Amino acid sequence: MDLSVVIPLYNEDESLPELAAWIERVMQANGYSYEVIMIDDGSTDNSWSVIEDLRSRNANIKGIKFQRNYGKSAALNEGFKAAGGDVVITMDADMQDSPDEIPELRRLIVEEGYDMVSGWKKKRYDNTLTKNIPSKLFNAAARNMSKIKLHDFNCGLKSYNRKVIKSIEVYGEMHRYVPVLAKWAGFRKIGEKVVEHRARKYGVTKFGWSRFINGFLDLMTIFFVGKFGKRPMHFFGLWGTVCFLFGLGIFLYLTVSKFFFDATGLTQRPLFFFAILAMIIGSQLFLAGFIGELISRNSPERNNYLIEKKTGLN
Ligand code: UDP
Ligand code: MG
Repeated sequence: MDLSVVIPLYNEDESLPELAAWIERVMQANGYSYEVIMIDDGSTDNSWSVIEDLRSRNANIKGIKFQRNYGKSAALNEGFKAAGGDVVITMDADMQDSPDEIPELRRLIVEEGYDMVSGWKKKRYDNTLTKNIPSKLFNAAARNMSKIKLHDFNCGLKSYNRKVIKSIEVYGEMHRYVPVLAKWAGFRKIGEKVVEHRARKYGVTKFGWSRFINGFLDLMTIFFVGKFGKRPMHFFGLWGTVCFLFGLGIFLYLTVSKFFFDATGLTQRPLFFFAILAMIIGSQLFLAGFIGELISRNSPERNNYLIEKKTGLN
């Protein structure tokens, strides 16, 4: 199969028929063999019956229905598991992404050899204050931390080589950082393409202000887990030791100065408390690292590595 189109959706019944018809037009015009996987993320409107109806008319449309709302990442993850196409395209269900971009997104993967291509909503039709400006800051932070040169990490419209989506796991709210997950999994050729963005035609946005707080926390998590997830002691142990030694150094200095230079009581000096604080924090950090190591030692994932190729072995 040439293409899988994965569409996470939450209460989008009004858009689905139009979206499905448009995708079908594009697929037929290009003669692709394809499937559309719609993941109903616990919608409370008629989305599921619309999906069943679409399916009864076009067998290329498939659906998965969650029992409750788990979030866009969970929906993408299930869609990725089910996808059977050589190239996988994700897009939002609200018709803000245009299916006309599909052929070019596919070409970049198949002909130019990209592992993944992210859409870039260069001209956005969203609220400037609540979406466009914060998202610029956000992308700058993600770009700096990940060293992936993308303008728009969180664009719903992306295309992937099938290998990529079968190697990564999207959970929590990590859908914002799929390019980073791909990079951690060893996929380096990540490109971007300017895509047409349209105003939301039906329904309302599903992400409010909390997206920025959660997005920021997730950014921290992803970097921490990516870098130190398998060796927490290298982070906590190092900083714990530094902090402890710093406190100990001050302490020794105070002791020496008390006995040899002046007689003021140790507890009268603010530095004394600072030294104690540094030693306590240091040992706490050290312990956190130690516990982290014990946990990762027991993780069933501890020896899962992604192997690209083997020779002479099966
Ligand atoms: N979505 C989802 N589960 C959720 C929230 C959103 O599957 O819990 C889907 C939503 O239906 C849409 C896509 O994710 O297809 C992007 O959401 P939205 O358009 O609300 O985000 P925005 O474009 O405002 O960033
Ligand atoms: Mg949208």
